[in-house]
Amino acid sequence: MTDITKPIYLDYNSTTPVDPQVFAAMEPYFKTHFGNPASFAHQWGWAAQKAVEKSREQVASLISAKPLEITFTAGATESNNWVIFALAEKLRSENPESPIHFVTSELEHSSVMNTMKEAERRGIEVDFVKGNKYGQVSVEAVARILKPHTKLLSFIWVNNEIGSINPMKELAQLAKEKKIYLHTDATQALGKIPVSVQDVPVDLLSASAHKFYGPKGAGILYTRSSQPKVILPPYLFGGGQEHGHRSGTLNVPAIVGLGAAAELCQKLLPEEMPRLIELRNYLWNGIQNKIPAARLNGHPTERSPINLSLTFPGKNIEQLLPKLGRLGFSQGSACHTGTLQISPMLAALGLTADEAQGTLRLSLGRWTTTEELDIAIEVLSKALN
Ligand code: PMP
Repeated sequence: MTDITKPIYLDYNSTTPVDPQVFAAMEPYFKTHFGNPASFAHQWGWAAQKAVEKSREQVASLISAKPLEITFTAGATESNNWVIFALAEKLRSENPESPIHFVTSELEHSSVMNTMKEAERRGIEVDFVKGNKYGQVSVEAVARILKPHTKLLSFIWVNNEIGSINPMKELAQLAKEKKIYLHTDATQALGKIPVSVQDVPVDLLSASAHKFYGPKGAGILYTRSSQPKVILPPYLFGGGQEHGHRSGTLNVPAIVGLGAAAELCQKLLPEEMPRLIELRNYLWNGIQNKIPAARLNGHPTERSPINLSLTFPGKNIEQLLPKLGRLGFSQGSACHTGTLQISPMLAALGLTADEAQGTLRLSLGRWTTTEELDIAIEVLSKALN
């Protein structure tokens, strides 16, 4: 029997529940194996350290990296800040007279966008490349903007809001040719699409565990160890954990969860990815049938398996929230204390304020069912027609 009142979560781009298998792997590290991995003299410390190293192997394996190339952080926000500020500082100290140019896009997550803007205030030249009509960065647009002193390119792998996938392989080729570091915010890519730093030779990569069924507050920074060897100065100073790169007592349960989640994603991806693409297409077809005016934002096929960003022209999602209450989704704009805030991503894509107000993001995940999607289509069509 279908429970007609059950809430339906369609906001997996925002965060995912911790997988029960991941939770089971984490639990002993809150209780029995609670040691500090920096306690070298006893078994509690050894157990924790072993678990941390296992996690490093698991997440390295997911992206075809070497374990020594992984540093644990508190999430992608920290990893993104680290890359941008630490690289700026390193380059400046190596050559104080030389200007430094970074390139990113207008379609980055705020943790890259606002950090780049801060770097700009601190004297770095930053260019924000425009996306194409699907919100993707083209290699040609990036090539045109390069300067002799361009030192860093940073592009989101899979867009968190509109789902488009950037041509990372081509961007990596360009970066290699020009000998410029390439960083990617792969937070929405890990566990959703194949990510290999061998196939796509980025130099730096950020991600967060809670987007792939791990816990919140745990993430990674991948740093290439050869061809080229990337050396970033530390971001946090203190006890010298993480080989001196990132001080602070490690969050062992969260790191264990991150590793377990990565291993599970690696195992499930071959069947999970096509299943989610099919479900996403099912949802989109269903919505189009019931609400023909609906428009898809982002690329029709080169997009995240889990994401649908949709605009309903002439509608105001905020006003319709009471009718959409059962569905967990995210809005393209929000009204805070009387002022309308439009998503910068949608604005960069060229949507007007009215269109942004008629935009919502639905995102699917491991536990989404066709039955739930049928209900979601019904709820949307009742509210929007
Ligand atoms: N980058 C992208 C693409 C994201 O979607 C998010 C989370 N919304 C982040 C970075 C930041 O992740 P966290 O909040 O876990 O640091």
